[in-house]
Order: sequence, then structure tokens, then C-alpha cells
Amino acid sequence: MKDSATGITEFIANLEKQNPHEPEFRQAVTEVIHDLIPFIAANPRYQNKMLLERLSEPDRIITFRISWMDDAGNIRINRGYRVQNCNAIGPYKGGIRFHPSVNLSILKFLAFEQTLKNSLTGLPMGGAKGGADFDPKGKSDAEVMRFCQSMILELWRYIGPDTDVPAGDIGVGGREVGYMFGQYKRLSNSFTGTFTGKGVDFGGSLGRTEATGYGAVYILSEVLIQNKEDIAGKRVLISGSGNVAVYAAEKAVQMGAIVTTLSDSGGFIYDKNGFNAEKLACIKQLKFTERSRIEKYCDHFDAEFHAGKKPWSIPAEIALPCATQNEIQVVDARTLVDNGCKYLVEGANMPTAIDAISLLLASRVHFVPGKAANAGGVAVSGLEMTQNSLRLVWSAREVDIKLHDIMRGIHQKCARHGSEADGFINYSKGANIAGFIKVADAMLALGVV
Ligand code: NDP
Repeated sequence: MKDSATGITEFIANLEKQNPHEPEFRQAVTEVIHDLIPFIAANPRYQNKMLLERLSEPDRIITFRISWMDDAGNIRINRGYRVQNCNAIGPYKGGIRFHPSVNLSILKFLAFEQTLKNSLTGLPMGGAKGGADFDPKGKSDAEVMRFCQSMILELWRYIGPDTDVPAGDIGVGGREVGYMFGQYKRLSNSFTGTFTGKGVDFGGSLGRTEATGYGAVYILSEVLIQNKEDIAGKRVLISGSGNVAVYAAEKAVQMGAIVTTLSDSGGFIYDKNGFNAEKLACIKQLKFTERSRIEKYCDHFDAEFHAGKKPWSIPAEIALPCATQNEIQVVDARTLVDNGCKYLVEGANMPTAIDAISLLLASRVHFVPGKAANAGGVAVSGLEMTQNSLRLVWSAREVDIKLHDIMRGIHQKCARHGSEADGFINYSKGANIAGFIKVADAMLALGVV
């Protein structure tokens, strides 16, 4: 058996050789294998089974052309994808992203992360991710509908309630899921739980919209309790102003935190007095209803807009990156630490660069990775699948109690596998190992397939 350092070096070299043009994918895998190769070295049961090699080679990748017509009658072409990473513990499950930056590297990283994240929830869901390089910004409702219908015209043959269950992600919310589900229902001539994040009138779960943001704050409060601290009165920086960011802000404010920033791709707003329910309603109106820019918030309330900037230079005890991948670089992490940040909980997927994570951990910042912190969204998607199968509707309160329990459970699993000798919890390591064990055990039981 090789020593772990050699194993890591060789694994990374091979990963680069196999995936030369996929930096985000390599980043996600590299972050995980630093914890898993030593873990496997210490656990003979997992040795020589090529588990990491199998997990980092998706089961299947589907890529296809999406042709659609804009309102002016022009024919437009985009590229669509579905990456089905691993279904060892349940049907493939993961969101669909619409953003011009979408490419195979980003979707492979997301599908890989999703596999471990879904495992952490304790629910029977495999990992997948999909999307298209389509930019919904500035498109009419009719254009978005035609695009969604064209995408599903191809994708529908590869998904299904027991095969692969997509949901939303960046650029895909209730409107887009509705259009995609409508087309899927027509083509398959069946009403099933094939999508989650559906409207509550047609099979969606109460609490799904809020679940990712609320879940991130629930796990944050577990971390604070672990450290005998309270979220009330703490200053919180949040990036993004989409689904995850806004509901993370809402729950943090409800629990007494002072949330001072939100952002979009144009820059960030800083409200030194902190957001409240009325101010968050204004953000929801601007970003969800009008699909407008966050800087307009400053027309309504006393706040600063910092064009083209990220919020990490504002002093606060807690940071919740909730926008996109790699939005915290090492220089941002340095600034956060210097300004007294003690907790960083990832609402987004992989918002923190690897060297920035190293700096945070070396500075003893309590860092919770996205695969643990934002798992509340897919967890409630799992609950939506259950309700669809049972033909039942649970109340918002029932769903919220289950979400809270799942987030508490994830915290416990991370603590079990990430505790260090001095009591510090390396949540990243804990999440990687706990997520891996369940998938690996299933893979061993299922044989070489
Ligand atoms: P939304 O599309 O609702 O919101 C995304 C937000 O991030 C917007 O404010 C957007 O600004 C901003 N943003 C997107 N790309 C960039 C960029 N390149 N630079 C700066 N800002 C950017 O997405 P979600 O809230 O759903 O997703 C946010 C993150 O959370 C993603 O990493 C996603 O994978 C992750 N996630 C989402 C889950 C969910 O349930 N929705 C579940 C788990 C993880 P603008 O409006 O200007 O585009």
C-alpha cells in the first residue's frame, strides 16, 4: 500500500491527464481526496476497490443541442447537458443551471459534490447535475418557456421518478421548473415526481423554496451552539440575492442576526443597520418579481452600493457566501480573518477556493462546506419526492421540523468524522468522510458495475 502523500500526488496527476480542460471539476475532486485517500489508507475495507476513481468518472454524460426561437423569430442554439455521476444509493438527483458560464467542468464538479451531499442527507438519492449555457436575463417569459420546452424535448428520455429527478439551481427557479415539468408531463403522459421545486399547486413541497437558505442557517446555529455562542446580535455578510441568499438572510434575521450585505453580479449592497422583513421584501420584489438589479435597493433604503465588488471587506463575525463558485479567493479569506470573521458557512457550491479553505482552517475559522451546509435544498427535494410517491402533502411546519432534524444530523455526522485532538471540528473533512462512507458501502455491496 502506497503512503497517502504519494497516493494523492498520483491521483491528482491522473485526474489532470483525464480531465485536462476541467479546472472546477479537478478542484472539487482534489479537495475531497485530500481527506479520503488517508481515510481509505486507514480502512482496509475500502482499499484496492478503485472507489475514488469510479466516483470521479461520471456514470454517464448526456450533451445535446437546444434549438429555440426568440420573440423576433431568430433561431437560437444552446448546449444542454446532464451529468449522471453516481446512483449507488438512489436515483440520480441534482439541479439544472442556466447561466452563460455553464460547461462540462462546472457540471461535473457539481454532480460529483452532489453525490456526497445527497449521501449526507441520509435520504436515498444519487448525484447528478445538468444545465445549459442559456442566459435567462433579459429574456421574455415566452422565450424562457420555449427554451425550457426545447431542452426537455431531448432530456425527457433520460429522466424519470426512479431514474433521475432534476430541480432548480442558478437561473432556474419556480418558473423554469414549471415549464420543464409541464413539457415532461406532456411527453411522458404521466404525472410523477420527476422534478422537484415544483409549484405547490402541482406536487411541490411547502418549504422547498426556503429550504437551502434556511438549512444553511440551521447548521450555522448548530456550529455556534457547539462553540457556546449565539447567532443573535452577530454581524453576517451574505453574497448573492437569489434563492439561497435571500432565504438565508431571512432565517438569520428571524434568529436575531444583523445581516448587512447582499449582492448580485453587478456588485454588493451594504446596509449598516441590517436588513429586516420589510427590507427583504423589497429585495424579493426587485430580484424575484421584477428580475432587476440589486443596486436599486439604495433608491428605497439608506445603503451603499459597491459596484463590481464582493462583500468580504466589511467586518463581520460570520460569512455566508451564497452566489457562485470561487467567489472567496485567498485574499478575501485573509481580509475576512483580519476583520474578525470566525464562521464561514457555504450556501453556494464551492464558493471558496482550495487555498482560501486552507487559510481559514489554519486560522481556526469554523468552516462548513457547501456539501453539508446547503444540503437542506436537496433534502427537502427528497421530501418532495416522498410526498409525491405517497400522494400526500405535509404542512410547512412538518417539513421545517424534518429539515431542521436533517441539518442537525448532518452536523453530527461532520462532527463525528471531523473532530480533531484539540476539539476543533474540521467540517470539510467530516463531510467528505461521512458522505463517502455511505456511497462506498453501497458500491461495495453492488459489485463492480
Ligand atoms: P439564483 O440564480 O437564485 O441566484 C444566484 C445569485 O448569485 C444571484 O444573485 C446572481 O446575481 C449571483 N451570481 C450568479 N453568478 C454570479 C457570478 N458569476 N458572479 C457574481 N454573482 C453571481 O441561484 P441560487 O440561489 O439557487 O444558487 C446560488 C448558489 O447556491 C449556487 O452555487 C447553487 O449551485 C447553490 N445551491 C442552490 C440550491 C438551491 O436550492 N437553489 C441548492 C444547493 C446549492 P445575478 O442576479 O446578477 O445573476
